[in-house]
Amino acid sequence: MRKAFLKTARESLLTMRKQVGADIENETKSSREGQKDEGMDAYDLASEERDRDISLILSDRDRAKLQAIDEALERINAGSYGICEACELDIAEERLKALPFTRLCISCQAEQEREAKQQRRIDDDRGYRRFAVGETDEEAG
Ligand SMILES: [Zn+2]
Repeated sequence: MRKAFLKTARESLLTMRKQVGADIENETKSSREGQKDEGMDAYDLASEERDRDISLILSDRDRAKLQAIDEALERINAGSYGICEACELDIAEERLKALPFTRLCISCQAEQEREAKQQRRIDDDRGYRRFAVGETDEEAG
């Protein structure tokens, strides 16, 4: 990664971080009455220490985004920014400009989304198949 590009990336990450922070403040005001605590996942556990206070009012999406931004800033410091975590190739600068906190190149991202979709479908299927167990051999064992 070029130094100038890293500098730009850091600046846009810091700007994004501020924006998410502002969104959180707005949400604090509007979501006092309607607290949602569903969807505890790995992110919740990982960031619990650091973001204990705001994690109560953050939506899952905001929290994930904030963490992704923080991690991207850490990667800039560590010198590993812009390298795909899955295939270890450089992520295209165009992609990094659009998504400064991405950890995957476009093809690995597409693959991951495909897998996630497949996983969801498998989970859905299980709900239905429960009624039909025994009709196919693959369910045996
Ligand atoms: Zn990749």
